[in-house]
Amino acid sequence: MSEYQHRARKRFGQNFLHDAGVIHRILRAIHALPGDRLVEIGPGQGALTEGLLASGARLDVVELDLDLIPILAHQFGNTPGFTLHQGDALKFDFASLGSEPQGLRVVGNLPYNISTPLIFHLLDHAHLFRDMHFMLQKEVVERLAATPGGGDWGRLSIMVQYHCQVEHLFNVGSGAFKPAPKVDSAIVRLVPHAELPHPAKDHKLLERVVREAFNQRRKTLRNTLKALLDSEAIEAAGVDGSLRPEQLDLAAFVRLADRLSEQSTAHSAQ
Ligand code: SAM
Repeated sequence: MSEYQHRARKRFGQNFLHDAGVIHRILRAIHALPGDRLVEIGPGQGALTEGLLASGARLDVVELDLDLIPILAHQFGNTPGFTLHQGDALKFDFASLGSEPQGLRVVGNLPYNISTPLIFHLLDHAHLFRDMHFMLQKEVVERLAATPGGGDWGRLSIMVQYHCQVEHLFNVGSGAFKPAPKVDSAIVRLVPHAELPHPAKDHKLLERVVREAFNQRRKTLRNTLKALLDSEAIEAAGVDGSLRPEQLDLAAFVRLADRLSEQSTAHSAQ
C-alpha cells in the first residue's frame, strides 16, 4: 500500500481494483513470463502492476493522471524493467516501444469512458501486439464477442473480429472496485490474427460500409446502404438486400466493401 492518499477521479474513469482474488485471476489469465514485453494502460495505484512486474517481464505503463505519477514512481521506480509514461493512451505511440519480434502484450483495467476509441486506436497498430487483456464493461465485452444474428452484433464486434480473435474470459462484479461502478465488468482477451481470415481490399471502405449499415440497424441493407451500393451491387456481392445488418457475418460485410472498392476503381477509371 502506498503512503500517499489519492482520491478517485470520475473524469479519469477511476475505479480501482481492490479484490485480491480478482486481481490474481486476471494475472493468471495474462500469465506473464520473463522475456515478455508488457504495456499497461492506466495502472492507477498499481493493483495489477505489482503482479505483472513480479513475473520478471518488462513493463511500460501509460497513466494520464498527473497525481498518480509520483505514487507509481515511488512504488515501482526502482524495479528493473519498469518504465513510466505520463500521457494519454489515446495518443500514445505504441510503435515507439519498438517492434518486439514476439509482439507487445497490452493489459488494462480501462477507463470505461474511453474504452471503445482506445480499442480502435490499438487496432490501427494490431500488428504490434501479441495479445491484449482488458477489463471492460460487461456489456462491451458481450458486444466484442458477439455472433451475427443478435442485438449485440454491430460495428464494434465486426471491426474487432476483423483483426482479432475474441475471448470473453470471465465476469467481475462491481464490488471488486473502489469506488464500485454502476455496471458489471468482464475480462476479455483479444489476439490479433496472424493472417486476417477475411481481408478486405480496402479496410477504410469496410469501416464505412459497416458504419453506414448500422446507422439504422432496423432497416434493410438495401435501404441503409443506398448511398454507397445499389440493389444490383449488393446482390452481386452475394448478399440479400432485404436482410437487416445484424444478420450479416463478417465475410459478407467484406464482400460488400470489396464491391464498393471495385465500383470506386471503375468510376475513377472512367
Ligand atoms: N489499473 C488500475 C486498477 O485496476 O486499479 C486502475 C484502473 S482505473 C479503471 C483506469 C485508470 O486509467 C486510472 O488510473 C486513470 O487515471 C487512467 N486513465 C484514464 N484515462 C486515461 C488515458 N486516456 N490514458 C491513460 N490512462 C488513463
